[in-house]
Amino acid sequence: MTGGAKASGRGGAIWIVAEQAGGKLAPVSVEILGRALAMAREAGGREVAAVLLGKDAGGLADELASHGADKVFLADDPRMEPYRNDAHGAVLARLIARESPEVVLFGAGACGEELAPTVAARLDTGLGAHCTSLDLTDGGLLMMGVLGFGGRVHTEMFCPARRPQMASVKPGIFPPPPRADRKGTVVREDVAALLEGEKIRLRAVKVVREAPEGVPLEGAEVVVGGGFGIGGKEQWTLLEDLARELSGAVGCTRPALDEGWTPGEHTMIGTSGKTVRPKVYLGFGISGSPHHMVGVKDAGVIVSVNTDARAPVFESSDYCVVSDFRKFVPALIRGIRKAKGEGAGEPSPA
Ligand SMILES: Cc1cc2nc3c(=O)[nH]c(=O)nc-3n(C[C@H](O)[C@H](O)[C@H](O)COP(=O)(O)OP(=O)(O)OC[C@H]3O[C@@H](n4cnc5c(N)ncnc54)[C@H](O)[C@@H]3O)c2cc1C
Repeated sequence: MTGGAKASGRGGAIWIVAEQAGGKLAPVSVEILGRALAMAREAGGREVAAVLLGKDAGGLADELASHGADKVFLADDPRMEPYRNDAHGAVLARLIARESPEVVLFGAGACGEELAPTVAARLDTGLGAHCTSLDLTDGGLLMMGVLGFGGRVHTEMFCPARRPQMASVKPGIFPPPPRADRKGTVVREDVAALLEGEKIRLRAVKVVREAPEGVPLEGAEVVVGGGFGIGGKEQWTLLEDLARELSGAVGCTRPALDEGWTPGEHTMIGTSGKTVRPKVYLGFGISGSPHHMVGVKDAGVIVSVNTDARAPVFESSDYCVVSDFRKFVPALIRGIRKAKGEGAGEPSPA
């Protein structure tokens, strides 16, 4: 353990830990930077700093500064690429112990989800995980909002006694701040010194990057969601055909993911998945559990198709269609193709 700190009530800095891969910042890192900047402004002005770990990552440090970070702590070293929980956790914990920021925010992405608790444990402080809201009180307490009981209850928690106050934040919650022609201070860290005396046991044997196919869920104007009612991988292609016609993305519920009908975890929507904000959400074979619906509640229009007229999903839908998706989706695809003047080519069989 690197040693935590008791709360002192000082108006200290707000930090974000930036996640990057393949020379690109994770969108959630920029989103939490935006929220950190807004909280700093609301608190009458606090320093906002970003920490960036990686190799040849100087350009991304400048990018964080152009988004508004006053300072970027850059640990640029071959040992910081690829991500390893023990090496990254050690460097971060030591930096935080040295600089004593008041608040540290992580994106709840692939790495942040496990890095945040590692660092919190090393610093002997608390962590609010998968937050969907963050606010600083006048007294400097970070109020961390999470959804409980399947999204029915919004709970706020805080960490009164230990510092820093730490939270991980779900992607897609906060708007990213615009880039501007501004420069912050980049502080280059000595990674060897930060790792001194640390036993780094993890070794990356191979890095496999899978390029997601099609339109990403975040930012898609139309999302086609599929649930357990789709019933199989073969029928799932109908949803992909529809999404393609609408230049949209396909998302899913937990059971559809568990059945292996979708390409992976990144397609799941809901409490433990993604939050989406499309103009239109078309849900098929989804019962409407709050665990799922919380991830689509900000959609402009929700259209749901279900064979069960009493399905709970209809309570939170703008348009409710009692129908079998196997009839509805091919008819919709034919209609779209006709409207586009492409003729009514047959969609995939269901
Ligand atoms: C801690 C926790 C976290 C969770 N997090 C998530 C999460 O992030 N995201 C998530 O999605 N779930 C999550 N879940 C699971 C969640 O509670 C529900 O179990 C899940 O969302 C239900 O998925 P579903 O609607 O696809 O399946 P079901 O509830 O089985 O519903 C299937 C629906 O399909 C309809 N149907 C059947 N055949 C057809 C047909 N031919 N045409 C049209 N409709 C048809 C049925 O009438 C039914 O309403 C979580 C659960 C827990 C405990």
